Amino acid sequence: MSFEDILKSEHSSIMPTYGRFDIAVASGKGATVTDINGMEYIDFGSGIGVNSLGYADPDWVAAVQAQAAELAHISNLYYNKVQVSFADHLCKLSGMSRVFLGNSGAEANECAIKLARKYSHDKYGKGRHKIICLENSFHGRTITTLSATGQDYFHQYFFPFTQGFEFAKAGDIDELKDKLGDDVCAVMLECVQGEGGVVPLSPEYLCAVRSLCDSEDVLLIIDEVQTGAGRTGKFFAFQYFDIIPDIVTMAKGLGGGLPIGACLCSQNLAEVMSAGTHGSTFGGNMVVCAGADVVLKKLSADGFMEEVLRKGEHIRQRILSMPNVKEVRGLGLMLGIVVEQGDAKEIVRECIRNGLLILTAKTLLRLLPPLTISYAEIDKGLSILETALKGAIKK
Ligand SMILES: *Cc1c(COP(=O)(O)O)cnc(C)c1O
Repeated sequence: MSFEDILKSEHSSIMPTYGRFDIAVASGKGATVTDINGMEYIDFGSGIGVNSLGYADPDWVAAVQAQAAELAHISNLYYNKVQVSFADHLCKLSGMSRVFLGNSGAEANECAIKLARKYSHDKYGKGRHKIICLENSFHGRTITTLSATGQDYFHQYFFPFTQGFEFAKAGDIDELKDKLGDDVCAVMLECVQGEGGVVPLSPEYLCAVRSLCDSEDVLLIIDEVQTGAGRTGKFFAFQYFDIIPDIVTMAKGLGGGLPIGACLCSQNLAEVMSAGTHGSTFGGNMVVCAGADVVLKKLSADGFMEEVLRKGEHIRQRILSMPNVKEVRGLGLMLGIVVEQGDAKEIVRECIRNGLLILTAKTLLRLLPPLTISYAEIDKGLSILETALKGAIKK
């Protein structure tokens, strides 16, 4: 199939929800993908932070293949050891007490919202259902997680949205205090706002949010769908700030390339979601869990996180020395670049023409490379990026 054939098929069969770039990818190894014409690209995006171990990691592939051959799926009506071993591993590594497994970030957040509302309903009765989210946040594409997303752009067409979400300005603890009325059951936030443009929240603010929540018996939900599973150089981004959420959600990088969502909670919430209150047909799928367990094993190996931090620092320093760079922000291998001149999307197109895949977030360039990317791949990618940044400077 030529690129033109693919385009034609796409237009006649797939809903046009994605603004795609002009490349059709066929295979991948490590942090390098190959398109249908055999051209290679360094991938600084890893499928929006999904392919955390890079492409075709041999251990991940072996685990997934073996599980697919043994038993791919069994209903959650029955017990299975693959799902419980992964769940046990995840709870131990994350320091949380229980997990609900779904298939995406939005689903993990839906579970978090239901859990927070039920906790409050069980303890205080009706009417204490409101969740305060932050402006510029992103929590997903379902009607309810769109409702929780603090960007007006997402609040169009699909009315009516789910009620019970309000927004406070990130960093403004007084505004949050004002909004924490008797009807609030939870605060929900990302430690580094990803889709919002790689915006880290301040340690002071996050600590103040934690103690405010404690004093009001309001649950703190941290959305680590993008920042979790080692992306920032720690298992969770919240570990940078010395706070522990009541509920934390994960997805993207956790599965190493297969769809997964996880909603984890603390001990006092362990029994809130009783039998029949939530469920998922595919959640905790055995093939997915077998792959995700390999991700957890690699992340917890000696020196892995240190290496993520070292690579992140190396990339940050190199980019800071490039022309046309105003600011580099983010943590670990989640980095955003504010350019001085040029349109981020145009710079991405130029990178692609020269063999580099890179993401944007709002007007920034965004990097979420595989956590296992090699220094050779990093340097190859960075030199393509440097050329594109230079080329965007107005003559
Ligand atoms: C990507 C993302 C989501 C949504 O995840 P999906 O798997 O696309 O549903 C939610 N929250 C954050 C912070 C994200 O980055």
